[in-house]
Amino acid sequence: MNIIMIGAQGSGKGTQAEALERALGLKPCSSGDLLREHIAKGTELGLKAKPYVERGDLVPDELVIGMILDFLRASQAQPGARGVILDGFPRNIPQAEKLDAELAAAGQRIDAVISLEVPRELLQGRLSGRWVCRAQGHVYNAQTNPPRVAGVCDVDGSELYQRSDDTPEKIERRLDIFFRETVKLLDYYERQGKLTRINGARPIDEVTRDMLAALGARR
Ligand code: ADP
Repeated sequence: MNIIMIGAQGSGKGTQAEALERALGLKPCSSGDLLREHIAKGTELGLKAKPYVERGDLVPDELVIGMILDFLRASQAQPGARGVILDGFPRNIPQAEKLDAELAAAGQRIDAVISLEVPRELLQGRLSGRWVCRAQGHVYNAQTNPPRVAGVCDVDGSELYQRSDDTPEKIERRLDIFFRETVKLLDYYERQGKLTRINGARPIDEVTRDMLAALGARR
């Protein structure tokens, strides 16, 4: 089963992708985490992507699409692979069309798309309180989902940090792109009959429960 999570910055996509991984054994694929890994390692892709990520702009499609297709090929080749949860990709219609074409060529498809919906005025606060774990990208929020020990990841004990693109201006820029470009994907997947909208402005476990119910109904 391959799932896409669509949601604005701060809507809880990463947190819910972790919950789906635990519940369904699907492999999360976060385009932002993959790009940050490339940037940290200083790969050729990382060097090209870095200025875009640091401004809060989208990285050019050809760079991101290649990276995601590599990830999908590698994860499909794993024994016992059950599918992926895409988080942060696709982010515009050309990316979505390319993904559909490549999956179809490999005899695969997107089975369901979850739209995690949170009013824009709540998102700034969620993001400026966001702390991320250095080792694996586990996400916390100082107000709504704090770690047990400040500054330390509950899951793997690594250091928590605040992302350099989580400043107020860069958050606004990223949200503008989401509400201008990425929301167009909702129509695209609605027309394919794959979209479920979930109210993300609720406690984490309620959102997870509704998501699992929606996915169960679509299986
Ligand atoms: P957020 O969704 O909170 O902006 P992500 O971690 O998903 O954070 O992405 C961080 C940055 O990585 C984005 O601002 C953008 O520069 C880049 N990026 C991630 N996914 C894509 C994508 N599908 N297409 C283009 N750029 C992307």
